[in-house]
Amino acid sequence: MVIVMQAGAPEAQVEHVIETVTKAGFTAHPIYGVNLTVIAVIGDKTAEHIEAFGTLPGVDHVARIDRPYKLAARRPEVTATTQIAVGSVVIGGVELCVMAGPCTVESEQGLGEVGRGVRDAGARILRGGAYKPRTSPYSFQGLREAGLAVLRMAADRLKMPFVTEVMDTRAVELVCKYADMLQIGARNMQNFALLSEVGAAGKPVLLKRGMSCTVEDLLMAAEYIMSAGSESIVLCERGIRTFEGGTRNTLDLSAVPALKRYSHLPVVVDPSHGTGLAWMVPAMCKAAIAAGADGLMVEVHQCPEKALSDGQQSLTIEDFARTMAECAPVAEAVGRRMGGPS
Ligand code: PEP
Ligand code: MN
Repeated sequence: MVIVMQAGAPEAQVEHVIETVTKAGFTAHPIYGVNLTVIAVIGDKTAEHIEAFGTLPGVDHVARIDRPYKLAARRPEVTATTQIAVGSVVIGGVELCVMAGPCTVESEQGLGEVGRGVRDAGARILRGGAYKPRTSPYSFQGLREAGLAVLRMAADRLKMPFVTEVMDTRAVELVCKYADMLQIGARNMQNFALLSEVGAAGKPVLLKRGMSCTVEDLLMAAEYIMSAGSESIVLCERGIRTFEGGTRNTLDLSAVPALKRYSHLPVVVDPSHGTGLAWMVPAMCKAAIAAGADGLMVEVHQCPEKALSDGQQSLTIEDFARTMAECAPVAEAVGRRMGGPS
C-alpha cells in the first residue's frame, strides 16, 4: 500500500507514520517530493491496516496496490485458465462448455426431451432448477427434492452431469446428494453463509453475478467460496440491472475480458437471464464467445409458451441446435471449438 501525506505535513508526522508502520511489522520506504511525501509500505497483510494507518495525523489517504482477492486472482506468471472438472466434462479448455436445459424442472418427460435435444446439439452439462428463487411467493417454487431426483435420473440416462441452484445453507447437504455442480444464483451471490457452506461441500460451483454487483464483488464472492476450501469455481455473467428497460437485464459482456484478466477462473455467460428475450439469445451467445467466454448457460424448453417459468427467454430445442451451429465459426475464429454431439 501507499500512504500519501497531506501537503506540507511536518517531518514529525512523517516520522510518526514510519515508526507506526515499522512497529506493525512492515517496511516503510518514504519518498520525499517537493510538496508531497508518500510512504510505500511493503509486507504481507498490509490491507488489514489500511483504515488504521489512514487515521494517523498528517495522512491524506492510503491506497492499496494489490487486489483484495488472492485465491481468485490470476497470478501474473500464469496465463492459462484453471480447468474445472464437472464429472468427465472440463470447463476452461479449448472446447467451450455449454450448459443447457429448462429454467425449472417441470416433469420427467419434459426434462428428458429437452435433455436429449440439448445433448444431441452439443451441450455438455444439463441445467434445471429444482429450488427456484421467485420474486413472488405465489409463483411456482420448483419441485424441490422431487426435482433433484428427476434431474439425477435424466442426467444419468443422458450420461451428462447436471448443475442446479442451491438457495439455502440448510439444503446444501441434500442438493449435494444429487447434483454434480452447485449453482449460486444472482440473488444469493452475497449470501456469505451460503458461499462458505458450498465452499466446504466439495462440489464444483457455478457462481452467478449478482444483478447489482461489480466485477470485484463477484471475485470477492468467489474468494469466500475458495477460502472455505473449494478450488472449483466457474464464474457466470448473467446481466446486471441498469436504466435500460428494453431487456430484462443488461448483459455486461465487458465483464468477460475483465474477469479473464483479473482471475484464473473460467467464465461462462448466461444470455437467457442476461436479456430475458429468446430472440436476442443467439446473437448474445456468439458475442459472448467472441468476447472470450469459456462457455454458455442457455435456457431451453420443449415448448417455451407452456413453460412454468422464463418461457419468454427460453429457446426451443430447434433454435438451440441452430444457435450451437451458428456459434461454431465464431468459436473457431477465436481459437476455440464447440462441443459436438457426444
Ligand atoms: C437460473 O439460472 O435459474 C437463475 C435463476 O438465474 P439468476 O440467478 O442468474 O437469476
Ligand atoms: Mn430462469
